[in-house]
Amino acid sequence: MYSAHRIFKRQRLLLWLSILLAAGFFATTLSSYYVSKQAILNAIVAQELPLTSSNIYSEIQKDLVRPVLISSTMAHDTFLRDWVVDGEQDVGAMARYLREIKTRYGAFSSFFVSERSANYYTGDGILKQVSPKASRDVWYYRVRAMSEPYEINVDPDLANRDALTIFVNYRVFDFDGRFLGATGVGLTVDAVRHLISNYQQRFQRTIYFVDAHGKTVLFGNQSGRQETDLRATPGLRDIVDRILREKSGSYQFRDSHGLHLLNVNYVPELKWYLFVEKGVDAALADIRQTLYVNLAVCLGITLLVLFLTHIALARYQQRIEDMAATDKLTGLLNRQAFSILIDKTFAEYRRDPRPISILLIDIDHFKSINDRFGHIGGDRILSQVAVSLQKGLRASDIAIRWGGEEFLVVLKGSTLEQGQHVAEQLRLKIEQTQFAVDAQPVSVTVSIGVSQYDGAESYEQAIGRADAGLYAAKHGGRNRVCVAPRA
Ligand code: GH3
Ligand code: MG
Ligand code: MG
Repeated sequence: MYSAHRIFKRQRLLLWLSILLAAGFFATTLSSYYVSKQAILNAIVAQELPLTSSNIYSEIQKDLVRPVLISSTMAHDTFLRDWVVDGEQDVGAMARYLREIKTRYGAFSSFFVSERSANYYTGDGILKQVSPKASRDVWYYRVRAMSEPYEINVDPDLANRDALTIFVNYRVFDFDGRFLGATGVGLTVDAVRHLISNYQQRFQRTIYFVDAHGKTVLFGNQSGRQETDLRATPGLRDIVDRILREKSGSYQFRDSHGLHLLNVNYVPELKWYLFVEKGVDAALADIRQTLYVNLAVCLGITLLVLFLTHIALARYQQRIEDMAATDKLTGLLNRQAFSILIDKTFAEYRRDPRPISILLIDIDHFKSINDRFGHIGGDRILSQVAVSLQKGLRASDIAIRWGGEEFLVVLKGSTLEQGQHVAEQLRLKIEQTQFAVDAQPVSVTVSIGVSQYDGAESYEQAIGRADAGLYAAKHGGRNRVCVAPRA
């Protein structure tokens, strides 16, 4: 009971210590993680994404806006318009003109479609005739009907074995404002995709173009958004309308891959939106790794500190308990320890009533030993007698320094007769042992009273009867064992 209470207190101390340590460690680790995380996010939003975005924007301008300018030049070229107004006479001249544009500007293809003849001219001459019924010619009729001067369209190119091509389709008018047809250049999507892929790799971003309907129209080769409707894309779905309306800005959205930061720029020449996107989880992977390592280190240190504290406390407590329970002079248990042990012993008895006998031992004429050798000499004899008594007992027996030169012994599993027998052996042993103070031999005898616990009485009563036995032994002439007469 007594030591269980101490252990409970010790565990509470350790619990508080671990809570304190863990709370301190975890608070600092987590707060530094969140500060770093916020710094990284801020850097991405405020610098990285806009920077990448404007880099790509200027690259794209070089590669995509130039064809728009070329197409515009073609649409306003007086040669082209005169040639059409004059009745499309010399096909060779038109072919030469388109070939020249194509080679000169490094375009993938160049074309003119005449409204009057429905001829589709390329650098090689007349490719075919467009027809409102042909699904491949839908673009022409769309361009004819639209109000803007040009459009950018991604389509397979018939003139180039159906390679996927970005066409700039420019409307052409005569000098009186009548519609003459559509002209422009095409460039392969592969080239632009390659460009985007390069950027994606270099900047570790997802880069793609989105049209006014919220559909991705151009994207890199490998990773990134494939051809999709952003209105049907988780995360983006909810903000796409706002993005299209605002035309440019910074956004955040979340999907199954985690948080994404997004920078959008409207490219008016293309009428497309440039999306530059970065998954935050990848950017935070490093500091998250650090967080886990730090947490593991904190946990390790906490456990180590707890372990060491536990050992130190246990040792310290053991020492204190030993000091409190044992008698300094003889090393035997003291009376305080006895009161705990006797309670335990009686509780055991109630579970398993094996006989218990009690011996009360008193050194004979100890005053005269003190007189001969002084108090210090007397002390030496006392401790020698204690050692001698202890050696004559079993491990399960309890020996206590009861007071001055009196000892109490509790013999478990011992009847009165067995107790008397042990007492007699002890008495004999002490009588036959040569004790000494400063090499002077000293003979010591003891008187012993014996009683047996009756199973119902208090220990004071049982000891009282042993004391009565001791009294009888003293009166009987000392150096003997006596049992108290039964009350
Ligand atoms: P008897 O028991 O045979 O009647 O005679 P006694 O001389 O032993 O008498 P009693 O038991 O009454 O006295 C015990 C003496 O032991 C008295 C005291 O001065 C001495 N004494 C008690 N405690 C100590 C101790 O710790 N050290 C020393 N040196 N002497 C002690
Ligand atoms: Mg005595
Ligand atoms: Mg005494």
